[in-house]
Amino acid sequence: AEEMLIRSEKMSIAGQLAAGIAHEIRNPLTSLRGFIQLLQAGMDNKQEYYKIMMDEIEKINTITSELLFISKPMTDEKNIENVKDMLTDVVTLLKTQAQLFNIELSLVVDHDISIHCDRSQMKQVFINLVKNAIEEMSDGGNIELRISQKENSCVIDVKDEGPGIPKHLLHKLKEPFFTTKKHGTGLGLMISNQIIENHHGHLEITSDVKKGSTFSIRLPIS
Ligand code: ADP
Ligand code: MG
Repeated sequence: AEEMLIRSEKMSIAGQLAAGIAHEIRNPLTSLRGFIQLLQAGMDNKQEYYKIMMDEIEKINTITSELLFISKPMTDEKNIENVKDMLTDVVTLLKTQAQLFNIELSLVVDHDISIHCDRSQMKQVFINLVKNAIEEMSDGGNIELRISQKENSCVIDVKDEGPGIPKHLLHKLKEPFFTTKKHGTGLGLMISNQIIENHHGHLEITSDVKKGSTFSIRLPIS
């Protein structure tokens, strides 16, 4: 996959995705074929095989649902939206999942700002970032969402107390299919970055391997 991504630097994002999808879906398919052959040969540990096969199918399923999200036409449904309102929705949506891991989601509003954006796309970005933070904090802690203003930009920080990201991996995070998770797709940050850039914004990632990471979104104020 490494080599493929380097070679694909000159390819369009669509080309990169196509190459990645082919690769990512072929692995679970190959594995499924292998297990069906084992079952045909009449092996005993059927229940174990079924479980692995379900996992492989789930993997393909997750990839396809994330791709369906990208392939949706970019409906330009941009309106003036209050950032605190959107983040409050996201906190409500993810609070229960966070509590399961002893994680507190806190929302800090330095400046109450509205921006011109597609509400559902922007919420998708916040959900992706908060979910990633939750997934890195299995030991609990605090995730802080902060809204502030810097010059003519609205800044939304998602700050976690997870393990942090080693410097040499930082530049890979926005690449499609980069994941360190067993059941990850590596598409969340690529999609989020795409949405932010479509809103003329920027996603900056800073991390301290001991203290945690901050994903900082900067968007123009209308
Ligand atoms: P996925 O969540 O499916 O792995 P993403 O694109 O959302 O895909 O994230 C890509 C990778 O970036 C993750 O697998 C993880 O290694 C890293 N990452 C993302 N968010 C964080 C975070 N808050 N802390 C540490 N690592 C992170
Ligand atoms: Mg993710």
